Amino acid sequence: MITVDLRSDTVTKPTPGMLEAMWSAKVGDDVFGEDETINTLEAKAAAMFGMEAAIFCPSGTMTNQIAIKCFTQPLDELIADQTAHVYRYEGGGIAFNSAVSTRLLNGYRGILTPEMIEPEINAENIHYPHTSLVVLENTVNKGGGSCYTLEQIKPIAELCQEKGLKLHLDGARIFNALTHTGDAAVDYGKCFDGISVCLSKGLGAPVGSVLLADKETIKYARRIRKVLGGGMRQAGFLAAAGIYALDHHVDRLKIDHSHARILGEELSRLPWVSNVIPVETNIVLFDTVEPAAAVLAKFAEKGIRASETDKHRIRFVTHLDVHAEQVEYTVDALKSL
Ligand SMILES: *Cc1c(COP(=O)(O)O)cnc(C)c1O
Repeated sequence: MITVDLRSDTVTKPTPGMLEAMWSAKVGDDVFGEDETINTLEAKAAAMFGMEAAIFCPSGTMTNQIAIKCFTQPLDELIADQTAHVYRYEGGGIAFNSAVSTRLLNGYRGILTPEMIEPEINAENIHYPHTSLVVLENTVNKGGGSCYTLEQIKPIAELCQEKGLKLHLDGARIFNALTHTGDAAVDYGKCFDGISVCLSKGLGAPVGSVLLADKETIKYARRIRKVLGGGMRQAGFLAAAGIYALDHHVDRLKIDHSHARILGEELSRLPWVSNVIPVETNIVLFDTVEPAAAVLAKFAEKGIRASETDKHRIRFVTHLDVHAEQVEYTVDALKSL
């Protein structure tokens, strides 16, 4: 039976070319700064986004949490959308790691504007936590892969500069956003103090994320990564997969987006689907008449796996291990339910 795994873009396995790159990586002890493959990945990723430096970490949760720690002091407050991964899906790490409170806003599909942010910045007053950081997500996972354009980000960056706030980007799927908007990665460095990039989502590496920032921040980030237990040794085997992904798996993201669009269009014609959130990138969110769990059970009989994100909401995520034939198969299966 055909199986199609649409649960997440994290389920991909390394391609033969990626495995080859991993096997032949030159490695060393990265805690001593001696892994040349990691050093190459860090320099490459930083340059791509117009940032000075980078640090390779085991997960996107770690890069985000390190960034928050670098950009805040205990008792500070950060501002984020209420759907933000840093708030919802990082286990309460903002409070635990940084002793920082979170001010949540209601963006449209997770997208914030300067007008939403400005009134939430606390005045200097002994009663109020000190607002020190804004976190944006691009694409927005919970928003169904919705994107900021650089033109939307610039006025937020200007507001942060004016108010003395740091600005961090949770760019777990930043390359999906860039593919959709046509913005240039290198222009992002001018807007953000920190950028997290996942190599293990749409880019298809088995492990790893990078945090990009200025040299001083990354120097401190290395201390924080160590204290979190994220100082790795000959992890160049993993970094090699990341380099390969940046070289070979960025251009193809448009394929994932077109697959997601095909699935979204098909879903919007089906009587058992009550609503499809407009598809921008590789995520399709849709609501079902029956409870999502019942629909997922029917999918499972056809070998199709997806996630329930709410009682009546299902998420499909396309990725490099979902090929055109599997999309066709899924479309036929959806029609037959
Ligand atoms: C996946 C993801 C992360 C990082 O998750 P890890 O599983 O820790 O790598 C961060 N932000 C967003 C929006 C994500 O989707």
